[in-house]
Amino acid sequence: MAAMRRFFVQNVERETILSGDEYSHAKNVLRLGEGDEIVLLDGSGKEYDAIIAKVSKGEMLCSVVGERPSDKECKTCVRLLIGALKGDKTELVVQKATELGVAQICVFSSRFCAAYMNENKLERLRKVAREAAKQCLRATVPSIEYCDSLEEALATCADFENKLFACEFAKSSDVDLRSLRGSCALVVGSEGGFSEEEFAVARSAGFAGVTLGKRILRAETAAIAFTSAVMFVLGEWQ
Ligand code: SAH
Repeated sequence: MAAMRRFFVQNVERETILSGDEYSHAKNVLRLGEGDEIVLLDGSGKEYDAIIAKVSKGEMLCSVVGERPSDKECKTCVRLLIGALKGDKTELVVQKATELGVAQICVFSSRFCAAYMNENKLERLRKVAREAAKQCLRATVPSIEYCDSLEEALATCADFENKLFACEFAKSSDVDLRSLRGSCALVVGSEGGFSEEEFAVARSAGFAGVTLGKRILRAETAAIAFTSAVMFVLGEWQ
């Protein structure tokens, strides 16, 4: 079914109510009405076929008629940590990382970060992730959180099998990316990049330095390219 007709809700039951933004989108943008078929998603990784049974002010009552596991989710958990970027660049990274299949996104502030985050911006990022997830047919939306220091962000990756730190001044990588297996946490800096001290802190927290080549990439290019390369090596492009 078309990407447009997918809706995320908190909970799917036999009779599920669509309200809020998802209702407005269904009613006012897509002009859906009684009898139309839609897909409901609860973020569990399942897709539910449903039919709009009744439309009233601010709500649509949907009857669930079938369910199946989604085959669009990645098998391996990838977490992307990105320094807060200026303008709408963080949104761009969230959108692309969602399409590429990451499970978790963490935006952090670090020494040379010029951008800031607040609850509104975080909510906006969550919305971008939800829209991207619908568009690319995912059944889950990556979680998005914010850490206001690099140390705190690095500490959220303790359980990952691979901890990789894209360092613009690393001459070579500490690990061979071509043989990556298992869950991965990827760290990419903001426009201002990292300091030598920050790289040292990451290494002592168990992160391997990774080079993305001889050219200095823009932060958003680095985040998208790094995530893509890792997804490919993990076999997610098969
Ligand atoms: N202001 C810095 C560049 C920062 S680039 C400078 O002028 O040197 C933003 C981030 O992208 C970096 O912190 C790093 O995480 C990543 N990055 C960019 N190019 C990279 C490369 N060649 N190798 C590894 N990481 C890179």
